[in-house]
Amino acid sequence: MVIDAGHGGHDPGAQAAGDGMPEKTLTLAVAKKLRDALLATGRVRVALTREADHFLVLRERTAIARNLKAQLFISIHADSAGSLASGASIYTLSEIASDQEAEALAARENKADILNGVNLARADAAVTPILVDLAQRETMAASRAFAGLVRREARGAVPFRTEGLRMAGLAVLKAPDMPAILMELGYLSNPKDAARIRSEAGQAAIIGAISRAVDIHFARRMIAP
Ligand code: ZN
Repeated sequence: MVIDAGHGGHDPGAQAAGDGMPEKTLTLAVAKKLRDALLATGRVRVALTREADHFLVLRERTAIARNLKAQLFISIHADSAGSLASGASIYTLSEIASDQEAEALAARENKADILNGVNLARADAAVTPILVDLAQRETMAASRAFAGLVRREARGAVPFRTEGLRMAGLAVLKAPDMPAILMELGYLSNPKDAARIRSEAGQAAIIGAISRAVDIHFARRMIAP
């Protein structure tokens, strides 16, 4: 499986309330901790899309995972939306955003490919409508199932923005044959939320939930015909 630390290099992502710590730093720290926790189980092979502070076009992130024949892709982010919004969200791919905030989020996160008005990933990697064939439908269902597992395993330990899972046209989730989720750990714009996702305890809660969900996800696939 592949863990993707959102943003990097000249794309800092959101900024933390207070000291302005960039999202790219938080996502890399959490991605590395999650990798170490998963490797410690000895049950899964894990790679990161980036191990340092460098920029990757969204399509490169998916390409890394597909080249490794990864069977699961988790993109780690933290959101920004004024000081009142708080809680984590788990996104899976959809042509239609589940709500207005989800649509705005997709626009923000997909913007990583556009630098000074130049689209680095060429036109096809923008959020064009996806061709929903059978493989993609199956993958989207598997992605939603995995997102549901993370949500369930996080219950009581990680506060969520909304009760339900959310959907958006996120470019980084667009591999047709690899289940993928994007987790927004919380809102860096909210001082309390920023403190939670930067704390050892807050990160341990998130990593514990994802690790258990990964275990269950792959155990189910072993049993499935
Ligand atoms: Zn982000």
